[in-house]
Amino acid sequence: MDFHLSDEDRQLRETVRQFVEEIVNPVWQEIDKTDRIPATVLDRARELGLFGLSIAPEYGGLGLSIVQKALVHEMLGRGPWGLASYISVHTGIGCTGINLFGSPEQKAKYLPKMASGEWLGSFGLTEPDAGSDAGNLQTRAERKGDAWVLNGRKVFITNAPYAHHVLVFARTDVGITAFLVDTDTPGYQVGQVFDTLGHQGSAICELVLEDCRIPADAIVGEEGRGFDIAKRSLSEGRTMLGSRSVGAAQKAMELAIEHGEQRRTFGKALLDHQALSFRVAQMSARTDAARGLCYRSAWMLDRGEQAIRESSTAKLFAADGLWQTVDDAVQMLGGYGYIRGEYMLERIWRDARVVRVYDGSSEVQQIVIAQRLRKGDVESRW
Ligand SMILES: Cc1cc2nc3c(=O)[nH]c(=O)nc-3n(C[C@H](O)[C@H](O)[C@H](O)COP(=O)(O)OP(=O)(O)OC[C@H]3O[C@@H](n4cnc5c(N)ncnc54)[C@H](O)[C@@H]3O)c2cc1C
Repeated sequence: MDFHLSDEDRQLRETVRQFVEEIVNPVWQEIDKTDRIPATVLDRARELGLFGLSIAPEYGGLGLSIVQKALVHEMLGRGPWGLASYISVHTGIGCTGINLFGSPEQKAKYLPKMASGEWLGSFGLTEPDAGSDAGNLQTRAERKGDAWVLNGRKVFITNAPYAHHVLVFARTDVGITAFLVDTDTPGYQVGQVFDTLGHQGSAICELVLEDCRIPADAIVGEEGRGFDIAKRSLSEGRTMLGSRSVGAAQKAMELAIEHGEQRRTFGKALLDHQALSFRVAQMSARTDAARGLCYRSAWMLDRGEQAIRESSTAKLFAADGLWQTVDDAVQMLGGYGYIRGEYMLERIWRDARVVRVYDGSSEVQQIVIAQRLRKGDVESRW
């Protein structure tokens, strides 16, 4: 067994770490207050190729392996999650469908401008009455002559107010189907934009589709096979969210150690109290274990395996672990940890809350894992 990362992979990780620590984290309070990501940050992200992580070099992307993407997402997790979400929804669930299942014409039209960051992609699966139970979605697509006509509502769609197009999942007579909908299409409308606890900088909103007429060739993959595209996109997305959680947990632990060395109570540093030194040891153990699970899942996906149980396990463990770690870290800050917008740990706490909810909640991950176990998928396959 070899846990060694190549020089190229280390370099990639360091480049993104530097970007986050030197360019993004110094402006986290501005992002938090304005709910916008400064153009300078987005421009630098574009220069680094972060909008084209999974897109093949022939279309202008970096063409990274899934393990490499996990490294990038881990580093993005060290910064404000509004930026991480902005980039990862575009380059992850907003891109996987076209990348893996798109026609040559769709790839040629969308991927180069997505890779450069000129066009932002979005992913429209969730509906007001179909979240965890996404297979129950009700948006309809009807074939009318040489077009498809879409009607329905989506909710909580990240990036949609800024997006050039959305991969919309809708029901046809054959089953759930994925459609590329350009956001300037008549009948496409952004509804309510939600004010969220964390994730400042990446908007989530409602989408309203009313007689939205798109060309017949806007289907991605085969008609009726859209849910397979959604599941494949989410499987990779879960691994990336696990990695992002690992990065945030690592950052929270580092901030807790820094504070624990400096702050003194009862005549000694906080970390000289054994109860608190054990707490940071637990943070480290949890974060290391989660990192290993994320790398395993990414490695299996790179080998073409589905990694359904493994990606759910990685996300479940990393998300729950992050929540415990960041809550313990905020506790170590005492009253300062409860002041809004002053200490980064408080912001990580707000950002982190949602990872146990989206892209399959922690309960949904357990449903998936239990289903796999009952099908006989019980042994580690690495
Ligand atoms: C910040 C943010 C960004 C998002 N971005 C996107 C996006 O870009 N695209 C997109 O399509 N969606 C997006 N979503 C939607 C997200 O994926 C859903 O919110 C999530 O799937 C949960 O669905 P729901 O909110 O309808 O909750 P529900 O499905 O109503 O679930 C409510 C609660 O009940 C639990 N629950 C449900 N069923 C069961 C069960 N059988 N057993 C045990 N517990 C259960 C859930 O775990 C949850 O805790 C986003 C959401 C947020 C908050």
